[in-house]
Amino acid sequence: MRWVEYRPYERPFCQPLKTAHGLWSVRQGILLRLTDPTGRVGYGEVAPIPWFGSETTAAALAFCQSLSGWQDDLQLREISAALPACQFGFGLALADLEALLPLPKLEPRAICGLLPAGEAALHRWQPLWQQGHRTFKWKVGVQALDIELEGLQALARELPSEGQLRLDANGGLTEVEAAQWLEACDALPGKIEFLEQPLPPEQFEALQRLSQRCQTPIALDESVATLAQLEGCWRLQWSGIYVVKPTICGYPAELTRFICDRSLDVVLSSALETGVGRRGAIALAQEISLNPKRALGFGTGSLFDDDWDSLPAEQLWEAV
Ligand SMILES: [Mg+2]
Repeated sequence: MRWVEYRPYERPFCQPLKTAHGLWSVRQGILLRLTDPTGRVGYGEVAPIPWFGSETTAAALAFCQSLSGWQDDLQLREISAALPACQFGFGLALADLEALLPLPKLEPRAICGLLPAGEAALHRWQPLWQQGHRTFKWKVGVQALDIELEGLQALARELPSEGQLRLDANGGLTEVEAAQWLEACDALPGKIEFLEQPLPPEQFEALQRLSQRCQTPIALDESVATLAQLEGCWRLQWSGIYVVKPTICGYPAELTRFICDRSLDVVLSSALETGVGRRGAIALAQEISLNPKRALGFGTGSLFDDDWDSLPAEQLWEAV
């Protein structure tokens, strides 16, 4: 039996994030605390991104409410797949209860640095490089194609040979534009780690076509928000990279098994959760011991004006 408690939180972004679904100004989520009859505790976090394919925050809240109080373990281990962020949160809290998860310290080299969109990236990569980052993510499909392709050339020229770029189109290109991007990437051997989600998820066949035509790998992100979608793309024999956001991808143990059994080439990525959820996502990364070792997509530190990312779980629990 576990005593289940939950605390909703709201975390405003320093600057609202521009997403394909409009401005995102406040990250809402839920912290979980489980206590066993001996008084041991475990923390978890439910951090939905409904427009990315998870349940809504309201649905997650209603569910947590329905579980508050004493619960059988089974109740917590058999949450519906329709609530993937809840599955992750309760799975993490149970794992934490069984073997306290530390707040991992990651070297900047292990994390992908985030560049601003547009030519501002040209002024931003050096400070990130000095902090130790070697992989950089740049959003594309924001400005006119020819301007961005020039920016790509400039960035690739400036970046030392050890540095690599990840380009993320968030599903915003046409097939013709994507082909142009890939051609430009292929002409910069060793510089571009991958092009992420050039087309929207509905255009899976076109994504397959593109990936067979070019050297530069394509990574799926929006296409694989949940474990079911990840499985779907794997069944359709996607041979490229998968960007996985563990926090909204169901039970951590199931996700780990799925990735390991199939030796998938994955990049683990943040869903803008707090340090509580991030512990689970990073523990998962360590379990998978990613091969090839790709930098984690957790370069999000400066999006919030608070110290939540560095607080131990019990302190954050008290702070919200
Ligand atoms: Mg992405």
